[in-house]
Amino acid sequence: MKVSVDQNLCYGSGDCVYRVPSVFTTVDGFGAVRPGCEDSGDDPGVQEAAELCPSQAITVTDG
Ligand code: SF4
Repeated sequence: MKVSVDQNLCYGSGDCVYRVPSVFTTVDGFGAVRPGCEDSGDDPGVQEAAELCPSQAITVTDG
């Protein structure tokens, strides 16, 4: 499954980076998926980060 961050929704809380630093990082103060980690949507920690993102900016999708 794919994971992505919509930087138009993200307000840079950093929660996702705190939870799963191996997958998420910050770019210009906003959350982002590390290059090469776009297929990490099966990771339960990534799914939890998506559920708990305060601005619902993280999307996990099939594919
Ligand atoms: S948890 Fe959500 S709002 Fe916070 S940095 Fe990550 S994507 Fe942005």
